[in-house]
Amino acid sequence: MSETDQQNGSRLQTDRAGGRKPWSRWLRSWLMSHDYVPTHIWKSSISWRITMAVFLTLLLVETVSLILTVPSYEAEQLAGLRAEARTALVFSLQKTKGQLFSPLTKDAATRLLGNSKIEGLTVYGLDDSVIQSYGAPTFLQLMPNRNPPADFRSADNSHYETVFMASELGHPYNIVVRMSATTVEARVIEYIHQSLWIMFIMSALVTSVLMLVLSMWLLEPIILLRNNLLGAAKNPEKPEIKNLRKELHDEIGITIRVANDLIRQNASSLKRLRAQAEDKIHKLAYFDSLTGLPNRTYFLEQLEDIIRNKALGESETLAVMAVDIDHFKDINDTMGHEIGDKLLEAVGKRLVKALPDRAVIARASADEFTIMAVMGADHPGSATIADKIFSVMAEPVSIMQENFQVRVSIGVSHYPSDGDNARAILKNADISLNRAKEDGRDTVRYYSQAFDEAVHYRFQMLRDLRNAVNRKELQVYYHPQFELKTGKMVGAEALLRWWLPDNSKEGGQFISPTEFIPVAEQAGLIVPIGEYVLRTACETNKMWQDKGLPPFRIAVNISGVQFHRGDIVGLVDSVLKETGLAPRWLELEVTESVFMENMQAAIDILHELHSLGVELAVDDFGTGYSSLSYLRQFPIDRLKIDQSFIRNALVNVDDKMITRTIITLGHSLDLKVIAEGVETVEHEKFLRELGCDEVQGFKYTQPIPAEKLEGFVVEHNRQLAKNGTLSVVE
Ligand code: C2E
Ligand code: MG
Ligand code: MG
Repeated sequence: MSETDQQNGSRLQTDRAGGRKPWSRWLRSWLMSHDYVPTHIWKSSISWRITMAVFLTLLLVETVSLILTVPSYEAEQLAGLRAEARTALVFSLQKTKGQLFSPLTKDAATRLLGNSKIEGLTVYGLDDSVIQSYGAPTFLQLMPNRNPPADFRSADNSHYETVFMASELGHPYNIVVRMSATTVEARVIEYIHQSLWIMFIMSALVTSVLMLVLSMWLLEPIILLRNNLLGAAKNPEKPEIKNLRKELHDEIGITIRVANDLIRQNASSLKRLRAQAEDKIHKLAYFDSLTGLPNRTYFLEQLEDIIRNKALGESETLAVMAVDIDHFKDINDTMGHEIGDKLLEAVGKRLVKALPDRAVIARASADEFTIMAVMGADHPGSATIADKIFSVMAEPVSIMQENFQVRVSIGVSHYPSDGDNARAILKNADISLNRAKEDGRDTVRYYSQAFDEAVHYRFQMLRDLRNAVNRKELQVYYHPQFELKTGKMVGAEALLRWWLPDNSKEGGQFISPTEFIPVAEQAGLIVPIGEYVLRTACETNKMWQDKGLPPFRIAVNISGVQFHRGDIVGLVDSVLKETGLAPRWLELEVTESVFMENMQAAIDILHELHSLGVELAVDDFGTGYSSLSYLRQFPIDRLKIDQSFIRNALVNVDDKMITRTIITLGHSLDLKVIAEGVETVEHEKFLRELGCDEVQGFKYTQPIPAEKLEGFVVEHNRQLAKNGTLSVVE
């Protein structure tokens, strides 16, 4: 309970008791109505200091005045005593016959001494000769021809002696009178006492009044000011500002008003700053600073809100689209981040343009945008939106006087059919996006359960693959390569085979490298696997050479992941040294995508590899989109035409053209050209006509395990010696 509450309580009790006088009740309520309680004044050190200073000053002034007035008071008393003695003396004097006789009879003298303060006297004649003395002897003496002496007071102030001259007495005598002065002493002491009391009471009164006045005009405002400041310090944004009961127009009143204004100003600027800061935090937390679009967090929350609040109409559904810029990383790496950023901004703006009004778009990650749009009778369908997106992307984006052709891949999922919560819907849109990318990009894919199963299948495959490495389920097969002109076997490509044991009656199945290599690449597992293939291939080739087989090169596929993440140069060097294979019998096959990831790094690595003495081939040539002009910069030895062109070359004019162009181009660059996918005599004939240097394909054999290759080589050389050509054309 606060001090004020306690006082309220006690006031009620007193009122009920009815024992208080009205003025005391008024005083109490007056005090209560103030912002302070009376005890405050006693707690206030400033009040104490002022009051004590005033009190002591008063006391000092009064003491000084007392010291100054005491002697005059004492003189006044002595004068009274003298006047009293004179009156008594004059009353007792008689006329005498001459100067030799005392004017006091014995009786009169006894009465005088008994009834007055006169204790003794000496009567002198006008010639100052002693006539007679009475009572106690006097100290003062009159001398002839001398001035009468000054009044005398005994050392202990008990006696006072004075001289009454004849002129004063109206009788021809001069009389020295000794009086008792004890009453004077007592009166002076009493006077001092009284004065001290009065002084004290006056000072106390003045001080008390001062205290009250101070408390009202000084302390109360200062306490109010202090409380307001303390309140502002404690809660600067919402300070509790109190005003004086009655406005003061003095310096303190002005100070309080100024302080209150400052507190209010401070509070409002703090509120403004906080609002701005909150706004900024909100923007940072929910918006992407580059495009100004909401971010993934915002998008997810919106999606969650819509689902939780059932904000869709009865016949409405929601489409969530994940849009990814194709090969954005390449553009970013080759053209720089500034261009990349500008491209993202431009794509963001174009996407906004392509969307219906109620759609929400966000930048979910570096180059991925997510969109949610309501589907229903009154809304465009997701296919229409996807078409619109492709059409707004058709126009090249112009940045710094350069035109960039942006293509996007889109994955779509729908709520509620493809998931019942925001994360699932978004995840399924991403899965569909991945599928769009796998299916060649620049396309849209709609979520289907099968995608999900494919993802699960991949996860399972990744787990199995990790085991496969440990359990040595991976084997290297070899696919022979031949020189067309001579029919000689000039090489063999090392190809991985994965025999995955299962419970089937075959005891297992082969998993195609086209399936597991991308999984191994994504998980980084390709680095140890690739090392295994390289070492095995080199060891095996050396072994064949040591066995006396005619030497041929071994071609090993190197993934882009190995190329950029592992130390491929160091690895190749050490494997060659460890196995003892001469570098010229090793060829590394890389695809065009390897060059695109980081052009300069790729050129450097290729040069280092080439300087080791190994051969380099560009695999699947023609399927990527590497610029032919780059080829000049690469230290390569061989172009490997992708099997898809060979497969269709005889039926498809385009593929025929491409094959021809690659061979011409390769030769113009002084490169050898090898064709893979040669399955028929016709293929071989066609390639021979075009002047292709080498071939590899099922026409000659399927990829075979190491132990069978020896026999194959022997048989092939035997046939070659017999027929003198690679194929006997019927
Ligand atoms: P690739 O490097 O282009 O290998 C050639 C592929 O074409 C092999 O498929 C081979 O069996 C197949 N092929 C060759 N001639 C013919 C033909 O006449 N007809 C048909 N239908 N196919 C033919 P494979 O062994 O399934 O390998 C597929 C891909 O997997 C390889 O394509 C390569 O990219 C990758 N791969 C295989 N082994 C490795 C490896 O050890 N490391 C890496 N990084 N990738 C590998
Ligand atoms: Mg290859
Ligand atoms: Mg190939």
